[in-house]
Amino acid sequence: MKIAVIGGGITGLSAAYYMQKEILTEQLDAHVELFEANEELGGKIRTHKEQGYLIERGPDSFLARKPGVFKLAKEVGMDEEIVPNDAKGASILSKGRMHSMPGGAVMGIPTKFAPFAASSLFSPAAKARAAMDLMLPRGGQTADESVGGFFRRRLGHAVVDQLIEPLLSGIYAGDIDHLSLEATFPQFRRMEEEDRSLIKGMKKSQAASKEKQEGPSAEQAMFRSFKYGLSSLVDAIHRHLDEDAVRLGCTLSEISRESDGLRLTFADGTTDWFDRVLLTVPHHLIPEMIPSFSGNERLSEAPATTVATVAMGFDQTQLDDITLEGTGFLVADKANYDITACTFTHRKWSHTAPEGKGLLRTYVGRPGQEDIVSESDETIVERAVNDLKRIMPLKGEPEFSVVTRWRNSMPQYLVGHKDKVQAIETHLEEEFPGLYVTGASFGGIGLPDCVTQGEKAAYNLLSLVQG
Ligand code: FAD
Repeated sequence: MKIAVIGGGITGLSAAYYMQKEILTEQLDAHVELFEANEELGGKIRTHKEQGYLIERGPDSFLARKPGVFKLAKEVGMDEEIVPNDAKGASILSKGRMHSMPGGAVMGIPTKFAPFAASSLFSPAAKARAAMDLMLPRGGQTADESVGGFFRRRLGHAVVDQLIEPLLSGIYAGDIDHLSLEATFPQFRRMEEEDRSLIKGMKKSQAASKEKQEGPSAEQAMFRSFKYGLSSLVDAIHRHLDEDAVRLGCTLSEISRESDGLRLTFADGTTDWFDRVLLTVPHHLIPEMIPSFSGNERLSEAPATTVATVAMGFDQTQLDDITLEGTGFLVADKANYDITACTFTHRKWSHTAPEGKGLLRTYVGRPGQEDIVSESDETIVERAVNDLKRIMPLKGEPEFSVVTRWRNSMPQYLVGHKDKVQAIETHLEEEFPGLYVTGASFGGIGLPDCVTQGEKAAYNLLSLVQG
């Protein structure tokens, strides 16, 4: 059986790795080939090294509480190179003032009374409203609802607008009043079903995972990365794949169903036939590949936000007057700034900047404010630096900067996302048997979720070979 994996981002790499391993272990009569449009693997993972700095142009880390990346790193001998974030704690810029993130808040949900009560972020009325979660009945919803709607119902508008929204939109670059709870944070929905109160439920689950020593507690480092950057994981996976299994610079243009399998046509005009094809590319690229597919409207209408990361190197002396502690800040004052967040990368990951230097990374672009990404590098840097100078005493201009644009890169899982994915899969099975989709557009955007999706798809496809 011939299997093609399309896309050499972390999902496709994970799928190809686990398929190759299973084929070898089980001595299966199958062969896997991975096709990547670019000359490099990694997709959104792009580590850039310049002047002694280590800059992540895309993702900079992965969540420590999810197992996917740890497991794959171990497989390819990279587990020793995993590092936790150094500095902890972050701030939120809200109503023109910087506030520390309340201690004990997990995804914005208070799990400790004292730091929440002492937080300058919320008014007494907002704190009292959030505490009503302890008494409020269950919502009784059976259908999916928005993340914003759910948390507003449980904790009130202020906690959502000033804490949860900036936190989550930092992850999803989306409007949380449209994002699907079931597709992003199903555990909170289950928590309401089981424990009624989110605050009680969070306390319980924190205590349980502490006991089982599963994942970090609210005080421990939440993130992990690799000593030599995330691309080092990509390179290690690449080294473990058979040489003839990776085809770089191969852009898939079209897939058609023929009597002898799925015919792939590439941008250079060549064709090849496969029994199974796994697409791991962003969803908005799929309709062009299968123009006759009945699910194309669903794929085309699913939004994806355009963002840019702006990494800037400074001499430490330029940062001397900044008293803000921790790993950086999120911007809740959406209308007043272009930047949505700023990471003090040299503090969060001390291996990323040379001695005596500092690395700041800001984000621009959010739903409704994506135009800035089309500006020139100079304009984007200028606007980011201006915002930073309005917020903190930053001196002078960056010694250098690296702007990376990510167009339509953050898929938005709108309410009803899971049903939509299910419908797409069902229609694919009927119209293009042997063709499957997975990856960031479908079952989770974080790196651990992408790895797990790749692994699951690998075993699903191969179980068809094993019968
Ligand atoms: P991609 O990485 O998009 O890979 C798809 C691949 O398909 C690409 O290599 C592309 O070139 C290839 N391709 C496309 N079309 C074709 C074609 N026609 N033929 C062949 N190949 C094709 N997640 C975290 O966990 N932590 C973070 O800190 C984090 N930060 C992020 C910051 C940014 C700026 C962005 C954009 C995302 C971030 N994410 C983060 C999310 C995470 O990086 C992505 O969801 C994940 O990397 C997507 O992996 P993927 O393999 O599914 O897709």
